[in-house]
Amino acid sequence: TGSVETLEFQSEARQLLQLMIHSIYSNKDIFLRELVSNASDALDKLRLEAFRDKELQADTDDLHVEIQLDEQARTVTVRDNGIGMSRDDVVALIGTIAKSGTAEFLRKLKESKEESKGTVGQDLIGQFGVGFYSSFMVADKVTLVSRRAGTDEGVRWESSGEGTYTIEPVADAPQGTAVTLHLKPADDEDHLYDYTSPWKVREIVKRYSDFITWPVRMAKTGSGDSADADAEGAEAAATELETVNSMKALWARSKDEVSDEEYHEFYKHISHDWSDPLETVRMQAEGTFEYQALLFLPSRAPVDLFMRDAKRGVQLYVKRVFIMDDCEALMPNYLRFVKGVVDAQDLSLNVSREILQQDRQIRAIRRRLEKKILSTLKTMMTEDAEKYETFWREFGRAVKEGLLDDPENREQILEISSFASTNHATKETSLRDYLSRMKDGQEHIYYATGESRTTIENSPHLEAFAAKGYEVLILTDPVDEMWVDAVTGFDGKSFQSVAKGEVDLGDDKTSDEQKAEYADLLKWMSATLSETVKEVRLSSRLTTSPSCVVGDAGDLTPTLEKMYRAMGQ
Ligand code: ADP
Ligand code: MG
Repeated sequence: TGSVETLEFQSEARQLLQLMIHSIYSNKDIFLRELVSNASDALDKLRLEAFRDKELQADTDDLHVEIQLDEQARTVTVRDNGIGMSRDDVVALIGTIAKSGTAEFLRKLKESKEESKGTVGQDLIGQFGVGFYSSFMVADKVTLVSRRAGTDEGVRWESSGEGTYTIEPVADAPQGTAVTLHLKPADDEDHLYDYTSPWKVREIVKRYSDFITWPVRMAKTGSGDSADADAEGAEAAATELETVNSMKALWARSKDEVSDEEYHEFYKHISHDWSDPLETVRMQAEGTFEYQALLFLPSRAPVDLFMRDAKRGVQLYVKRVFIMDDCEALMPNYLRFVKGVVDAQDLSLNVSREILQQDRQIRAIRRRLEKKILSTLKTMMTEDAEKYETFWREFGRAVKEGLLDDPENREQILEISSFASTNHATKETSLRDYLSRMKDGQEHIYYATGESRTTIENSPHLEAFAAKGYEVLILTDPVDEMWVDAVTGFDGKSFQSVAKGEVDLGDDKTSDEQKAEYADLLKWMSATLSETVKEVRLSSRLTTSPSCVVGDAGDLTPTLEKMYRAMGQ
């Protein structure tokens, strides 16, 4: 073997490791789910690569995961014969964190830590899928040996998680990756680290990784410990393995065969979220475009929902073969938070992202998924108001982007949207409910945009509406400023800003007499203010304030103006 190098973790990686070592999360069992999930990913990748590259010198005969326990040495090893990693892969993938939003995550984590004085933001961490590093919750040393499929030289990586790791070449590593955890000393108080118990490990695998589509094997329980197995020889030990998981693809099973709990575990596996989803959506389509979909609405928005490179959450399979994560062709951007799996029957395994964007079948599937999500939300709105409110609070701002991006489904998106309004101080309203409260003679759906509810409520523009008992929508999200210009109306009623142009409230009481009386004043004001306003006119729209500034129908709102100015336009 060659020389041992000692390298430093990138600083964000180091911070995350510190959090892991100091046990951030009380459910430590999940480290095993993370390792099995990585092994499963590695097998998926190898199968796909072997399919695409017929020249690849890889062994794909018996792809599987194996978990080995050693009670004496207090180690747990998770081994796969998948794609493996080269030396550079290991340095890039394990030594650094390339994931977007990690800095943001660490900042939030720190904030929540300060707030809760020590009990660190447990739920935050799940959203990032810290994956491999979760090993350091239970281990004080981790060894990884890997060989990339189709190459000759292996690599050995080792670290105690404290700032540095060592890396060296190894001559005879088997294809794939083996991760060995040297468990921390047993903790008498809670026996937390009893991960050498085959029963315990088996139970964890069943609970978290049952649906993994590859066999996860362990030594048969009751067949003695690993020392005995050694004595009987490698041959005998190999025959005593058994598969622990059921390996069934959940999306291909009928609904009543699968429990909610199984769906939830599956969701956690694909989303890296540690809490249950808000809603599970299943679809089966037969006929020309045969596919199955299993989608989830999370119960909480990820921290990177509004970051530029936020990922789409749907995985694509073709006939049970994993093809890609984050399949943007399957879900419109405004529904990027939807997680799940789509398994299409008639696509080529060779599809690329570019091909998918053009594919008629994929586009048809995407339309169906989108419609299904919208109809699910509509049902939720009427049948489980509380659940809907949670959904809207977390994802409403993203959904409203759809009003701009997706003119085709605009009406349906409006249908499942809700807005703050003058009708209630805290409860939002649907547009349907708004319509049902419209006064006789009220022509439009009125809205006001602004920075906050308080600014809008204190604005003189609202006075005349309040006086007439007309409800006004209070729109305070930046995206609101954009869609109100693009969307003309809902169910035959148009949207009308309270702050623009001549709002015709049907009873302009400014008589000719009044006009004559104020003519001189208006003329003088117009001249004096000619630099700043276009026109000064008499109005009955105010009841207590003496005057207000209104925009022309086509003008930018003050908030938009500010946004554009901030962008330097
Ligand atoms: P994630 O799985 O979310 O990408 P992890 O921290 O679990 O994050 O793993 C980081 C990366 O290390 C993976 O994306 C993968 O490229 C690589 N990796 C981890 N475990 C394995 C493995 N058993 N075989 C091959 N690559 C692996
Ligand atoms: Mg992982």
